[in-house]
Amino acid sequence: MQITQQQLDLVNDRIRALVEAGSFYGKKLAEAGITHVDSPEDFTKLPFSEKKDLRDAYPLGLMTAPEEEIVRIHSSSGTTGTPVIIPYTAKDVDDWAIMFKRCYETAGITNMDRIQITPGYGLWTAGIGFQNGAEKLGAMVIPMGPGNTDKQLQMMQDMKSTILCSTSSYALLLAEEIEKRGIKDRIHLKKGVIGSERWSDKMRERIHNELGIELFDIYGPGIGINCPGEKAMHYWDDYLYIEIIDPKTGEPVPDGEQGEIVITTLVKEGAPLIRYRTHDLSRIVPGKCRCGRCYPRIDVIMGRTDDMMKIKGVNVFPSQIEEVLGSFKEISSEYQIRISHLDGKDTMRIYVESTGDVDFDALSKRIAEKVKSRIGFTPIVKVVEVGVLPRSMKKTARVIDERFD
Ligand code: ZN
Repeated sequence: MQITQQQLDLVNDRIRALVEAGSFYGKKLAEAGITHVDSPEDFTKLPFSEKKDLRDAYPLGLMTAPEEEIVRIHSSSGTTGTPVIIPYTAKDVDDWAIMFKRCYETAGITNMDRIQITPGYGLWTAGIGFQNGAEKLGAMVIPMGPGNTDKQLQMMQDMKSTILCSTSSYALLLAEEIEKRGIKDRIHLKKGVIGSERWSDKMRERIHNELGIELFDIYGPGIGINCPGEKAMHYWDDYLYIEIIDPKTGEPVPDGEQGEIVITTLVKEGAPLIRYRTHDLSRIVPGKCRCGRCYPRIDVIMGRTDDMMKIKGVNVFPSQIEEVLGSFKEISSEYQIRISHLDGKDTMRIYVESTGDVDFDALSKRIAEKVKSRIGFTPIVKVVEVGVLPRSMKKTARVIDERFD
């Protein structure tokens, strides 16, 4: 989707601010002799920014607004390496709440809802973002943060929470607990706002069935969300410009084609981002949405550019395996892929869960054959009992590459 003149004007404001502040990306632009962009073609010549650049700017190298205007910092969720510190002005905090409010509204959530927030608070951005948006909407917030499943379920019943904000793994964990404890009729949830990772249709179906709730994918957090009955996510093009590029060449791809999401923030003051490579894979969904909203759309996240695994010389995406597994009714939504290197050969083992009513050997053989027809080589498939594979509060690691340990 080509950048509009209005968006270009905003980008030029941001470029000016970055260069004047001499912040990390401002220096990069100054070195490249760039002070403004005149056309969409000019824009695509701007250098990309990467997570690594953001890390190199630690601690406050990204700060672009004057110190007296910065009211808060947040940090990336990364558990390894140097964190990324993003400074916010009061306007940034407010803009973010407006974007989040729009997400809730798009999902049909109102000020009569009670929103239980389970993502983390503190340095990490997610929890407080969900909260600010919900307060702007006028809804009642139940700010739980992650963990303590007993307390989560207690509050969910006593407060009659209608909206659950969480990761897909945690939503599944809660759904399973609710079923196990037989308390489904005491739960008042209507909708789930699920963020931050790629999740399978099977998992979606499972959470939907067990909790009986309508599920929404939120990207960002706060950048975009799907509308009822649709899968693609509307995003806020007055706050962000999104391009989809070929992750190998860096060239933009036509609308509708899959590639890497690259984000430019149009109004951010504390730390504007220009052409930031997210490594998330999606596509622009062309045409207008049935709901009538004019905001453009991206498809559900299809994976990460760095998820790609090279096994026996073949490029494999976890989403390919997931699709194959999704076609088997006899197994749960959970799986684990382990790749190892034994006796000079790469080996892929896939662990899946099944209820006791099937012949595990015959099932594993059928799954192995179907995976082979999809990716070109035969994995070792192990069927285990339901509940054996790990579930977690945050992101569940489904691919474990043991070749480089
Ligand atoms: Zn729509």
